[in-house]
Amino acid sequence: MEIRKKLTYQFIGIVAIILLFSMVAIYISFSKTRQEEFFDRLSSKAKLVAQMLIDIDEIDSELLKRIELNNPLSLPNEKIIIYDYQDEVIYTTDDENILSITNEIIDDVRLEEETQFKQGMYEIFGQFYTGQYDRIVVFAAATDIFGMNKIKRLRIILVIVFVLSLIIVYFSGRLFAVRALAPISQMVNQVNKIELANLGTRIDEGNGQDEIAHLAKTFNKMLERLEAAFKIQKNFIANASHELRTPLTVITGQLEVILMKARTNEEYKNALLLVLNDVKDLNALSNKLLMLAQTSTDRPQMNFVKIRIDDALWKAQQEINSRNKNYSININFGEGIDDENKLSVSGNDILIKTVFINLIDNACKYSLNHHVDVTLDSKDDQLVIHFTDKGIGIIEEELKMIFNPFYRSKNTISYSGHGIGLSLVENIVKLHKGTIQVVSALDKGTKFTIKLPICT
Ligand code: ADP
Repeated sequence: MEIRKKLTYQFIGIVAIILLFSMVAIYISFSKTRQEEFFDRLSSKAKLVAQMLIDIDEIDSELLKRIELNNPLSLPNEKIIIYDYQDEVIYTTDDENILSITNEIIDDVRLEEETQFKQGMYEIFGQFYTGQYDRIVVFAAATDIFGMNKIKRLRIILVIVFVLSLIIVYFSGRLFAVRALAPISQMVNQVNKIELANLGTRIDEGNGQDEIAHLAKTFNKMLERLEAAFKIQKNFIANASHELRTPLTVITGQLEVILMKARTNEEYKNALLLVLNDVKDLNALSNKLLMLAQTSTDRPQMNFVKIRIDDALWKAQQEINSRNKNYSININFGEGIDDENKLSVSGNDILIKTVFINLIDNACKYSLNHHVDVTLDSKDDQLVIHFTDKGIGIIEEELKMIFNPFYRSKNTISYSGHGIGLSLVENIVKLHKGTIQVVSALDKGTKFTIKLPICT
């Protein structure tokens, strides 16, 4: 059900309950008052008639009947019946025997002194009256035509007021709900118009104060994040195709030049070696791109087992040295490593080795002495690994950007590279629930620090 309808119905429900309670209260109190007043009048009447009959000697039942017949103050359909101590009727105006007064009722009156009850349309008041010599029971009965008419009218008025109020509440509630929810409908319309092509559109934030404005702001923030993510994705694809196209163009050029005329075997061999190098580079690049894509999607603990960090480090050192004989890698253990159990982490050894290769490779590549100091240490249940070089360094402003895919600092134009290694390193470290930090000074050197939780 639409919120607009739900609000309207809830509104009607609450008002109906309140109205019903107050109307029932009014009705009950009004009819109680009417009854009390009417019984009061019957009681006065009963007392008066009894007093006249008992206390005034000159008045007997015949005279009383005649007096009462012409009494203008008589109640509508008034009937009076008086019983003596032997339950004999000594006076009655109920000639048609409409009221049925049993001996039990008479006894009841004697016991209770007075009683009141209803018989059909008649309301009856019974009173035990004791004079000097007599003990009689008087019943005064009548129908409260005027009171009942008033009650009937009140009932009709209450029903009309109830129905009218509900109709008014329904329409005003609907109007109120439509007005209250209008900004949401407006927002839905605006959101419906947002597509990939116009992701830069923002929805109206209204007065900026209420909940709707808060929702609009939250939505706009989400749009901002989405737009940024799409931009990154678009840039990534553009950069990746550029990085792949460059070596392919170089390879094509080299092959075309070779094929322009007949060459000696030596020349073919040299050319093929150059092409082979470029193909290897291309292969390494596509592997890195693939790995970057794989590690970008959050797959927590994928194939993670307990691995030894020092093993991965030795393997990385070996692999780099087999490729670059002039790189010098110095591995040290800090004082925190007092137990070989502190060298284990939960992870994937190929990924961890990739991290080490990238960091060691960078450190050697970007320093004149091609030397890196690697220190393994542990602190607070964490393995801490420092990679320190005395190379070209990175300026402060670029430090936070070097982890972005394809970003390369300005001072590395003369160095080969694609700017993917560090984003891959960051992804892998995050997958292993670790952190990476970098401090650097231009022309002095750089220190990368990785922290990984120890697996016991
Ligand atoms: P690549 O080395 O292929 O350019 P990376 O992602 O590994 O790509 O590194 C990104 C950038 O970070 C590098 O281009 C370089 O500018 C900077 N960088 C990384 N490591 C070092 C380092 N040890 N010394 C100086 N600059 C570094």
